[in-house]
Formats: sequence, structure tokens, C-alpha cells
Amino acid sequence: MSELPTNFYDLTRPELFELAASWGFPTVHAAKLWAYVYLSGVENWSAMPELPARYRTKAECELVFGRHETAAETHSSDGFTRKYLLALADGRKIETVLMRFTGRVTACISSQAGCAMGCVFCATGQMGYIRHLTAGEIVAQAMHVDAALRETTNRVGQVGSDVAAGGPACRVSNTGVAAHIDPQARRPVATPALADATSSSPHDRHERLRNIVLMGMGEPLHNYDAVMKAVDILRDNNGLALGAKKITLSTVGVIPGIIRLADESRPINLAVSLHGATQEERAALVPVAKKWPLDELMDACRYYIEKLDRRIFYEWTLIEGKNDTAENAHAVGRLLKGQQAQVNLIPLNPTNGYDGEPTGREAAKNFQQILAGYGLPCTVRQRRGIDIGAGCGQLAVAKR
Ligand code: SF4
Repeated sequence: MSELPTNFYDLTRPELFELAASWGFPTVHAAKLWAYVYLSGVENWSAMPELPARYRTKAECELVFGRHETAAETHSSDGFTRKYLLALADGRKIETVLMRFTGRVTACISSQAGCAMGCVFCATGQMGYIRHLTAGEIVAQAMHVDAALRETTNRVGQVGSDVAAGGPACRVSNTGVAAHIDPQARRPVATPALADATSSSPHDRHERLRNIVLMGMGEPLHNYDAVMKAVDILRDNNGLALGAKKITLSTVGVIPGIIRLADESRPINLAVSLHGATQEERAALVPVAKKWPLDELMDACRYYIEKLDRRIFYEWTLIEGKNDTAENAHAVGRLLKGQQAQVNLIPLNPTNGYDGEPTGREAAKNFQQILAGYGLPCTVRQRRGIDIGAGCGQLAVAKR
């Protein structure tokens, strides 16, 4: 029985080079293939004229571009958020979100189908765990968003940006493109020559994906190896070249993963979901707190901060009457005082399986001010895509 082809998106650039060498080809061909895919968004073998025919034929037999099919796409009424329901090769589904903020585009990416952590207010937690995603399935989500941005840029040359103009939302395909519209020239231009794989020019011709948050479906540190490999691929300087500080990983508090991140000196941002400032209150919202108690979590966070000299972003879902009182805020302040930390307050987003209410604007502001009194920078997160179920804690799919 012949082996299944390798998913291109599962490979780091060195691995792609090694593969070329194992087939008896110089790595320069692999470098060109890498650039076609990551710099120009090309996945069509016949649109890669700079690859020698023999290498192309071999690669075509051995590799597959494991992009996700779009099962559904929804756009928020304000035009700032798009949610993609993506089908994996085995028929499982995940959700990925594209969010526009002033001057930047962020992709919220899933690391698992479902989640085993069971946070009570989270739709993904309510659906339960299905499986880990592979590195390639994580990378392909970023490529999906990148392709959507290319498509939008192409449309800019023809009809103007849908979002900037506040106009109708557009549908996008998930296919790569072999030609760009140069937004300056307002005309199609051929895919640029790929001889210089380090050139930024091809990539700069479309609106770039600059930020990734691993805050979609799943607990990233429960799928550590695949997530870190995906991060390495996304950061590759000859590819999407995402800055380490533009990638944020959010964990519910998987202590071994936090320690490992610190020991491996991973330079990405770390967000830790807190939600309760005492063990009892936290465990009521985040069941895994029973396995990884609050005091041990704080030890791990301090270890991370000291080892990397980096701050941690603490996430706090504000639930009316549950964890949003002045007393709660003082408890958070006492817990985090003196740490290199920032607190992000997220008014609860609605889900079918939890009947809590979001904290109102005034109470959120009071909470923020109390934390400021402890020297803790604190933001109230902009709510985006709530009307399409794309907000924090809202992602979920039918299990089958
Ligand atoms: S909040 Fe994150 S860790 Fe908790 S259940 Fe949802 S996806 Fe999983």
C-alpha cells in the first residue's frame, strides 16, 4: 500500500529542504516552492514555472496542500469580523476568525477540534474534546485568512475595500491566487519572480496578516508540539514572517506547558485565563484548576516572568454578579501585585450552555480602576463578532 502524501503545511522549511535532498534535488528548488506558497499564495503546480519539471513532478506525487474547505462563512454586521467554518480532511470541523482592528488584521486560530478543559462559560468547552490539530492544520488556518486578505486586496483594485467603505460584505474563496492586483497601479500584475525568496515585495502587495492569537477552539498547551511547530512555520522569515510578539498563545493554566515555554525561551506572548482569584472561585469556572491549582499556577507564572523577563497577559471574563465585584477586583490586585502583568477584561459573551450575563460598562470600568490602583495595566477588550458567534468563548461546531 502506498503512503499518503505529506501535507506541505506540516513541514518547516528545513524539513522541506531535507525532503528535496532525500529525493536527490538541490535545496534551491525547495526554496522556490516555499516562496511560491508562502509569499505568493500559489498552490497550483502548473503555476510554478520556475520549478524544474522533474522536481515538480516528484513534489506533486509526494506532497499535498492541505488547505481547509470553507463549509460556511459569516460576516459580522459591522464588517469587522469574519468567521470561517472549516472542514478538515477527516470531515471534522473547526472555526477560525478574521478580525479587523484599526491598522491591523488578526486571525484567531484553533489548536484543537473541541476542547477537553471544560470551562463552563465557553462554547468549545461545552462541546467537549474531539482531537488535536496537526501543525499543518493550524498553519492552514493562517493561510486561509491570508488568502482571504489577498482576495480582498484584489477586490480593492476593482470596487474598493468593503470594510473601509462600510459596504456590503464579500464572499471569498479559499483558493490561492497566482496573480495580484497592484493596489498602486490598479491593475493585475504577474506573480513576481521568486529568485530572491527573502524579498518582501511579493508579500507586501496585499494586506498582510500581522497578528495571530491562539485563542480559537482548544487549549494550545494541551497540543504543545503541534502548536510550537506551527508557530515556527508561521514565524519563518522567508514565509509569513510573523513577528514573535505578534503571536499570542492563550492557556487556561496548563502548568507543565507554561514551564516548558519558559525553559524553551519561546518569545511569543503568553496569556493566562484566570477568571477567579481564589482556588474555589476559579475551580467553579475552570474545572482544570482542580488539577493545576491557583497557587501552583502563580508559581509557574512567576517562573515564566523571571526566566524570560516578559510580562504575562491575564484574561478575566467578567460575569455579572459572579466575579465582577469590587471585592473580586481587589483579590485580583492582591494576587498579581508586583508581577510584570497586564489584565484583559472580557465581558462574558453569550453561549447556549451557560446562563451568566456580561458585566456592564460601568462595573467593568470600576474593576479596571481598582486594578490600576495596584499598578496593574488593564484593558477592557473590544467585543467583536458577537452577532455571528465569533467572540471569545463562542466558537463551537456540531460534533459530527
Ligand atoms: S476557554 Fe479555552 S481552554 Fe477553556 S474550554 Fe474554552 S477553548 Fe478550552
